[in-house]
Amino acid sequence: MVLRELGADAVPVRRESELDGVAGLVIPGGESSVMDKLSRTFGLAEPLKARIAAGMPVYGTCAGLIMLADTVLDAVPGQQSLGGLDIAVRRNAFGNQLDSFETDLEIPELGEEPVHAVFIRAPVVERVGPKAHALSSLADGRVVAVEQGNLLGTSFHPEMTDEYRFHARFLDRVRGAA
Ligand code: GLN
Repeated sequence: MVLRELGADAVPVRRESELDGVAGLVIPGGESSVMDKLSRTFGLAEPLKARIAAGMPVYGTCAGLIMLADTVLDAVPGQQSLGGLDIAVRRNAFGNQLDSFETDLEIPELGEEPVHAVFIRAPVVERVGPKAHALSSLADGRVVAVEQGNLLGTSFHPEMTDEYRFHARFLDRVRGAA
């Protein structure tokens, strides 16, 4: 696991008592509508929103980015997000064209070496509000990485390509917040 390799003491968070014990959170890929349902069923959604509002560093990849978005387009009926990022994301934005693809992204904030990004039924950021900041876009201009204070989100999965710089950036925020 990337966080452990970077020296962090990483534990899974499935319930509120576990959330209380962590200083930051990575919300991974998966299926955002299921994450939404489970987080509300298990009483994790409200405590999570409170921690996000209090400044806990959170990094969301793919479905995790959807969970962090204030607005979700093409959500399943009734789907909610935790919010925090002043963005609108569209789920499965590449769905009709291709389900998954890989590309190299220039992300100046992470250094010269491009990021090799893997997109799997990925969302794109369709609107970046004034509080959020786009970190990276595809060649056609669609935004796929954003940051806002202690919140970081990517449409793609850096952990699949030994790309550690996003997780390192997240851990810097965690150490800075502690
Ligand atoms: N399509 C998924 C969703 O809407 C996200 C896919 C992923 O996390 N790789 O939640």
